[in-house]
Amino acid sequence: MPITRHNGTHPQGARAGVLTPQSLLPRSGLVLSAEEVRQLWSFVHGDIMNGGLRRYLRGSLGLCPRHAWGHAVVEIELWQAGAGLRGGHQPFDVCILLEDLLNYVSLGLDRGSGVFRRHPENILRSLNPCRICKEVAGPATPGLRMGYANSNTAALTDEANLLDYTRRWCTETADEWGSRACPACTAKDPQTVKDLSNGEVGGRSLLCRHHLLAAGTMNLELRCLVVQRLVEIRRRLLRLIDSMTDTGAPATAADNASWIEALGWFAGWSLPLYLTEITIPPSPSPAKDPR
Ligand SMILES: [Zn+2]
Ligand SMILES: [Zn+2]
Repeated sequence: MPITRHNGTHPQGARAGVLTPQSLLPRSGLVLSAEEVRQLWSFVHGDIMNGGLRRYLRGSLGLCPRHAWGHAVVEIELWQAGAGLRGGHQPFDVCILLEDLLNYVSLGLDRGSGVFRRHPENILRSLNPCRICKEVAGPATPGLRMGYANSNTAALTDEANLLDYTRRWCTETADEWGSRACPACTAKDPQTVKDLSNGEVGGRSLLCRHHLLAAGTMNLELRCLVVQRLVEIRRRLLRLIDSMTDTGAPATAADNASWIEALGWFAGWSLPLYLTEITIPPSPSPAKDPR
């Protein structure tokens, strides 16, 4: 199985403001380091929506592609109990963050440019570096690298990297998001990606934000289509969030796919595409009864 390892620094081109499709995750599995899991597990337990952090995360448009998916993986794999029908292993914190970001970006794109506002296309660019990249790359303090609430980071890392529940979410909802995934993330050859970037406005409205940025200027028609799309994903995401509370109605299949579509738009589609392409080898035949 192809894997990607990470030393905790930004990949080339992934620094704030210069996100390009090259900064997306390669189409391969995600193997998080112990330090990344330690930081992400602490991030999941933090007050994700306090004012200062919310402003920072809007500026960075969440986390970099690797840590945006890593955030989902850590929460889904490690958080065992919760409200709603699933009772755990669900991306509640991730959805809270994505809902805020979808609202922020769709309002920004809808508003148009102005002297004191960012140009609508610049709304798609992150201004701040990824918070987890910053923490992971920070100076190591031997002896102070304890996991959240003294948790066993090595064991949590092994558990998170199995990707069991994340894979299940991606495969169970693939019929919903499959036709709505970014066609450039899905395409395997550079020429198709180029053609899609220069293609019709309707087709370009399905691109993730990285490929939208790479495709260049957005006219008003394209901007409106992107806003419509983000608003529609957010509507389903709100129902999904509701389903993860004690009193919320159960989510539909389309609602369940909404967080993958939102994360795919912000961070590219590499991980769900990879996880749903895995062919599971047939289980070995049971040993013959010697009797
Ligand atoms: Zn990062
Ligand atoms: Zn894409």
